[in-house]
Amino acid sequence: MGVTTAYMLGKYGHEVTVFDREPGAAMESSFANGGQLSYGFASPMGTPSLIGKVPGILMGSDPAFRLPSAMSFEFMRWSLQFLGHCRSGASRRDAEELARLAAQSGSVFQEILNDTEFEFGHRQAGKLVLYKSRTDMQKARSALDQGETSASKRVVSYDECLELEPALKNYTGQAVGGLWVGGDEVGDAARFSEQLAELSARNFGVKFRFNANVAKVEALASGGHEIILSSEERERCDAVIFCTGVAGTKLLQTLGIKLPIYPVMGYSLTAPVGQDAPKMAVTDAGYKIVFSQIGDQIRIAGFADFGIASEERRRQRIQELIVTARRLIPEVADYSRIKSTWIGARPATPSSLPIVGTTKRNGIYLNMGHGMFGWTLSAGAAQKLADLIGPASQVSQAA
Ligand SMILES: Cc1cc2nc3c(=O)[nH]c(=O)nc-3n(C[C@H](O)[C@H](O)[C@H](O)COP(=O)(O)OP(=O)(O)OC[C@H]3O[C@@H](n4cnc5c(N)ncnc54)[C@H](O)[C@@H]3O)c2cc1C
Repeated sequence: MGVTTAYMLGKYGHEVTVFDREPGAAMESSFANGGQLSYGFASPMGTPSLIGKVPGILMGSDPAFRLPSAMSFEFMRWSLQFLGHCRSGASRRDAEELARLAAQSGSVFQEILNDTEFEFGHRQAGKLVLYKSRTDMQKARSALDQGETSASKRVVSYDECLELEPALKNYTGQAVGGLWVGGDEVGDAARFSEQLAELSARNFGVKFRFNANVAKVEALASGGHEIILSSEERERCDAVIFCTGVAGTKLLQTLGIKLPIYPVMGYSLTAPVGQDAPKMAVTDAGYKIVFSQIGDQIRIAGFADFGIASEERRRQRIQELIVTARRLIPEVADYSRIKSTWIGARPATPSSLPIVGTTKRNGIYLNMGHGMFGWTLSAGAAQKLADLIGPASQVSQAA
């Protein structure tokens, strides 16, 4: 989010500096995510069917979800709001808004790519979401009936799934059918972000300060703000945009800004493709596991664990991801040569909608909380924020 926002503001003529505590771009929640650009399929985590899963989640028997090991007031408050968004009316409204944002983001992403020759395993793979129950299929069908219809999106029977993606012939899950989204894309988010950072620096003079942990942001009496790093270095700026994912909420609290963003952890592994690696991006909706072929590697990502998981749970869930993926599609990857495993925390809001815009503090902006679809939404959210701030020429005239 930080890199796309810096790119857009740089393009609008602003002088931009990115402070990131990591040694490079996209090294936290964006690093080895599912690699899916789901422009035609971005749906909220809170749905009426999730309410039916609550007993299994509470008992720890739902394979996709885990609750925090210790209950906190913060989680209780967030989960009550989240359950409110699982009600059918709220969930439908969230789904419509998310679908709109995702579609807009797809167009902006394409505009960015038109100016570049990036190499990040990007291709229009199409996507197949496999559903375990007829109710989920019915819901997908009614979403299409309510205006989401497009030529490249339709609900398909399981036989059609096999026709569309023959690599699923040895799939052992319980899918009864799926949703096919022809235009969806895959790629590597970290490689994309690195290259966009380089381009932003080269074309628009954006400065990237890595290994720069922001300890505090202070308002100045003379206007503007001062960024204070852990090294005690200070830098004055006219406006501060928080694109700080999960980690930024504490920093914002010191400015009196409280956000309903809670970490929902997920896991991934990257390995050479096996003989049954699907060409399309495949999502198993029940297990919340995605399979994306990026170049000659398969990225398998999944699960949704609320709260920051302990070391022990992380190890256990990575193992569960490997075992479950291997059971679902045995030859999807060369599991003997797993290249890397990864753990990330999705910055999730109760509605699954991101928080993009102004705050009660003059000169403090937000672009955070993109949850399950942060890479998908990044280009559109960055454009939205840049439009809100306006081109540098207009801002300086107004000042
Ligand atoms: C397993 C998994 C699979 C996923 N699959 C997909 C997918 O297929 N498609 C998709 O669209 N999305 C996917 N997502 C979601 C997506 O990865 C996230 O929504 C997205 O990465 C969030 O981006 P962000 O920029 O908000 O956060 P981050 O990438 O975490 O960026 C926040 C940045 O802020 C910096 N920072 C924080 N605090 C400070 C500080 N005090 N000082 C300096 N720097 C600071 C961090 O170093 C970091 O670089 C997935 C997520 C997971 C976990």
